[in-house]
Order: sequence, then structure tokens, then C-alpha cells
Amino acid sequence: MKTVLFFVALCGTVSVVELISPCVKCQNDQSCKPPNCFCCRDELNLPIPLTETPQIVFFTFDDALTDAASKFYRKLFNETRMNPNGCPISMTLFISHQDTIYRNVNDFYKRGMEIASHSVTHSHMSTSNFMEEAKKQKRNLAKLGGIPENEIVGWRSPFLEPIGDMQPDKLKELGYVYDATLTYSKRKLSDKAPTPFTLDFGWPYDCKVKPCPKRHHAGFWEVPVVSLMDYKHKYDCVYVDGCNNPPPNEASAYQFLMDNFNSYYTTSRVPFGINMHSSWFYIADRLNAMDRFINTLLKMDDVYIVSVDKTIKWLQNPTPLGELHAFEPWKCDHLKARQESDKATSNNRQGMGLSHAELQQMYIQQRLRQIAEMRKEIELRKQRELQLLQQTSNFVNRPWWSPPRRPQSNSNIHRSPFTQEIPNAHVLENTLEETVQEPVKTDKALATKSAGI
Ligand SMILES: [Zn+2]
Repeated sequence: MKTVLFFVALCGTVSVVELISPCVKCQNDQSCKPPNCFCCRDELNLPIPLTETPQIVFFTFDDALTDAASKFYRKLFNETRMNPNGCPISMTLFISHQDTIYRNVNDFYKRGMEIASHSVTHSHMSTSNFMEEAKKQKRNLAKLGGIPENEIVGWRSPFLEPIGDMQPDKLKELGYVYDATLTYSKRKLSDKAPTPFTLDFGWPYDCKVKPCPKRHHAGFWEVPVVSLMDYKHKYDCVYVDGCNNPPPNEASAYQFLMDNFNSYYTTSRVPFGINMHSSWFYIADRLNAMDRFINTLLKMDDVYIVSVDKTIKWLQNPTPLGELHAFEPWKCDHLKARQESDKATSNNRQGMGLSHAELQQMYIQQRLRQIAEMRKEIELRKQRELQLLQQTSNFVNRPWWSPPRRPQSNSNIHRSPFTQEIPNAHVLENTLEETVQEPVKTDKALATKSAGI
């Protein structure tokens, strides 16, 4: 019933039957089962409880892989950033040919990122040029980027413009496994988002950019580009960098990302997609906000940042959190072999030639460093609070003839100082999330700075 209401809300003037039937039909039809078929849905509805469901976050970046774009990606997806299974976090790069520096493509591939296709010319796709563009760009990435052709499985059309049924037909013919072109809009933050699914029962949602596929395409995956809500929760933005209300400073950019993340994490745990271009990072506040956002996710044991192809692998074989360390498609042992081919020339890939056990050890050390930093922060806070208590006490116990001297700040004096032993890392992290707050700079100052860039 909940599902029906959801689709009723979505469809507006379009017939309810038209919209609800494909997903409901698929769910009722017992033949659609993973790994070969996955029904469209807005709740995972898997035989594992939500508490055992990892929150998958997948990042996709579009367009030419230039040196400038690569610099941002290397910072955000640096080799020390690990998922809870001890493997490096990964993203998907939808790469168009023109202006791409292919040594960057090869470098990111070797570091475990997914390389996907975004056309040769980055022009408008049509039934007459689509096949050539999809075929040639796959070949470019394979030959110039040094990537096995069978590992290039994802496609996104420029400008998110589909060409109808021919798109999944041709992509499948060329060996692609999924398309990530069709868009889905959330109207408010609390709206549910669809999972990636196979087109066995067609595209069931509103067609934002026409023409969408109408027929059924068995076993071919569609990864909807689901909009985010802007930092004011007012308008939806298909791309992170496409909001009508762009966040004016680091604090609001961080909050914008966290709010959207939490709208998945605290509800359905449907995979959360962050789709964007590198140009967003030319404003330093936004780059810093994204850096902090990723750091926050890294502290969460039930969050995994993985590429789109890895997301699909999980949907094909949903595995509970407790067993993810042994989940084969998310392991990273094979990266060692990729790295070894040019180890001598690599000066930017520390940690990637390590065994699984060594990578796990690195992850543990990373967590221990984070905990040590948190302990230091708490110790400082404790001292600050004790100082304030001392000042308050001096104030209260002063002799009656002494002029009153107020404590420097009274904002914290009603809070108890930390007098207990630190319980565990998880509680510490929560405490810090609540207590260490920005902003250091004022919104006005940051807005001025942003405008000047
Ligand atoms: Zn593009």
C-alpha cells in the first residue's frame, strides 16, 4: 500500500496503473530474482535486516579526465582512505574522450576506480551517432587507457539525454552491463529513492528527459540519477554541482551532503548516489566540505564507498555487514597485480601494492590514529571546562566586598565536565560529531571569498 501511495504521489496526471504496474508486476512475478534480474523498488526489501545492511555510497564524476580534475579526485580518493573491509574506497569515472589525459585513466584504474564511458565527442546523442560513440569510446578507454575491454561496463549519455529503447539494446550488444542516464527527481528530502534495477519490466518512473526506453530489456541494469535536495531543502538538483541554491560556504556545503546522505542512511538504506562534475571543487570551501564529508563516512563501520559496478555486484548478491569482509567482488587483492606492472615509476600509490592482510592492518592503524586524535580533543575540552568551572567557583565564593568578576564565557558551565573513563571509539565519535562544530568563519566572509573565485 505504501508503495502504491508513493507512486500515486509521483505520477501526477499520468495513470496510476501505468506507473505502479511494472514494479508491482515484477515483484509479484516470481521469475525476477538476482543476480540476473532485480525489480525496481524504493525499499531494499531484502532478506537481511536493515541493521545488517551496509549503506552504499557511490560517487560518479563525468567528462574529460584532465590533470586538473585528477588532482581533486586524488585528494578525495587518496590511497589511505579505506572501507571497513580494509580495501580502498572507489568511485566511477564517466569519461569522454576529448581533453582526457589517458595516463590518468590508467592510474585511476590501477588504484581500483571504475572506468566507464561517456562518449567520444560529448555531443547530443541520436539514433544515428549513438552506436559509434558508445563503441569507439569503449575502445579508446581500453586501448589508450590500458583497461581490459570487459571491465568497461558502464555508460552515461552526455547531458543525461537518452535515445529510447535503442540505448539499452545497443549498449547490451557492445558488452555494457548498465546505463546511468535516466533521471529521477525527489520533491522533498524525505521522498524515497529508487534502487538501481534491471529493465526486465521497463522504465517504470516518470520520463524526465525523453525518450526513455519503453520496452523490456532483460538483465540490463539502469542506475537512476536520483536528484539531491539543495542545502535549503527547497529545490532538487540532479547533479551536486547543479543546484539552483548552491551552498554559500563550507558549513552549508557539508550540511547539504550530510542531509542528503542521512535521508538514505536513517531510512531505507537504498544505495546513495552522488553524481557530479569536478568543477564544483574549484571553490575551495566545497572541496573542503566534500573532504570532510568523506572523512565522516569513513568513521562509520556500516558505510561503504564503492563504485557503481561494485554496487550492482552487491545488489546481485546482497551480503550482510558481518560477512562483507569475505565478499569477493569488494576485495582488493587483485589491485596488487595491477600495480606491479609499473611499480618502479609509481610515486603516488603507496599502500596499493599491499596484500589484503596488510591493507587491513593499515585500516586498523588509520582508525587508531583517528581515536587518538579524538582523545586529544576530549582532553582539551575537559581542561577548558574545568577552567570555566574554576572561574565560576571563584565568582560565587568571592568575599562580599570583592567586585564581581564574571567568567569569560558561561555557555558551557552548566555542562558536566568529562569525569569518566572514555568508553569506546563509537561513543567517542558520536560525542565528537555532536560537539565539534563549524563554522570557524562567518558565512558572510566565506560568501565574499567564494564570489571572488
Ligand atoms: Zn558530460
